[in-house]
Amino acid sequence: MTEHTTRPATHTITTRWQEIPEDADERALVEGGAFRAFACSCGAPLPARVAAELHAMETGQCSACLGSADRELVPGFVQRCAACAATGRRNVQLVWEVAHGEAAEVITTALVREVVAGFSGPFRLSQVADTVRESLGLARGRLPVGPRVRDVLRELEASGELVMLSAPDELLRGPAVVLYRDPLWQRAPLPPG
Ligand SMILES: [Zn+2]
Ligand SMILES: [Zn+2]
Repeated sequence: MTEHTTRPATHTITTRWQEIPEDADERALVEGGAFRAFACSCGAPLPARVAAELHAMETGQCSACLGSADRELVPGFVQRCAACAATGRRNVQLVWEVAHGEAAEVITTALVREVVAGFSGPFRLSQVADTVRESLGLARGRLPVGPRVRDVLRELEASGELVMLSAPDELLRGPAVVLYRDPLWQRAPLPPG
């Protein structure tokens, strides 16, 4: 019989929901990690989201999903973690952060505006992303093109250049927290004169 060797400590961080008040701040709920309790299998005290994020980082895990590879936005609604490409790993998260910065540099608002001008009618996020990817000669998966294009399109929508046509695909918490998968936009009609 061989002796038991000391096993390396595992750090499985778990998240448990606490009671969510009716008038909960939606942003804090979905993005801020509020109304949750955190624990690690090693027993480290994790009194708040910040402590859980630090512990994830120091144990080589993604600070967004705490190593679980997915995120529960509201109770019962789970999404793959976009920060670490659903690997749960800190090193992948860091590489992906750099890629997000790079995408923001090459996919400018001017470029997206130019692509959008080529559509006479409504267009989907995926169509714009594909066109951008083609025009820059980017291989699929090289840069987070979709998320960056989505951000720019939302900006153009906020400034009144675009109008969103689709209804949300998911109402996660009434109309306050909604999710669009591949939304449809249209260029806003030019003001007369
Ligand atoms: Zn731990
Ligand atoms: Zn993650």
